[in-house]
Amino acid sequence: MRWRTFHRKVSLKNGEMPHNSPAPTDERIITRGESKDMGLRVLLVEDDAVLADGLLRALQTQDMTVTQVADGLAADRALQEPGTEVAVLDIGLPGIDGFEVVRRLRARGAATPVLLLTARDAVEDRVRGLETGADDYLVKPFATAELVARIRALARRHAPPSTTIALAGLNLDRATRRARVAGNPIDLSVREWGVLEYLLQHAGRVVSKQQIIEAILPWGEDVTQNAVEVYVSRLRLKLDGSGVAIRTIRGFGYLLEAAE
Ligand code: CA
Repeated sequence: MRWRTFHRKVSLKNGEMPHNSPAPTDERIITRGESKDMGLRVLLVEDDAVLADGLLRALQTQDMTVTQVADGLAADRALQEPGTEVAVLDIGLPGIDGFEVVRRLRARGAATPVLLLTARDAVEDRVRGLETGADDYLVKPFATAELVARIRALARRHAPPSTTIALAGLNLDRATRRARVAGNPIDLSVREWGVLEYLLQHAGRVVSKQQIIEAILPWGEDVTQNAVEVYVSRLRLKLDGSGVAIRTIRGFGYLLEAAE
């Protein structure tokens, strides 16, 4: 399945805010599970109209969702809205400069990754930018391919930890406590969920029944090793068609792995 990717260009004047920002939370859900770069939301802050336009188009061809602003105050306001995954920031800007934009961003405690665009030979700018809290910089002029690669690298480094764990056709969403086999929801008891989550977290490694018991104890009172065997045999039935197998390793415990 392919999801629509939204591209937009918002021209902001005098720090005016966009009124039609897509809900970032929904978008994140839509793109989850797809290529991580799809729809990556980039704030591009560049006051050189020609350069900004070229960069905007280059990033959009890479399936990035780009908001472009041309002055420091507009950038500062845009960064106070949720949704920006990577900010690309020129230093010399009308209003407040790029350093001040980064300083304010970090003063608010925001971790949004920032890539600074700096002038050639401006070593002190790069040092100052990194000290202020920028994550990376690129010296003008640069190849757009390098800009794209650096934006993606920053996004990867700052990606929020996924709430889903998956192997073959098995998928557990720990936020919603939903388990799916080949895309179809399956019903699991609290303890079955605990056993399966633990096995999946340790996929490819042998875990003992005692380790499983300790992992699921928060949900139950006394759990015997026999009970673990019962949960595992029920799980095996429920995992039918998932491409995942729970193997018994005699004398040691269990090993969850992708089936041959
Ligand atoms: Ca500039």
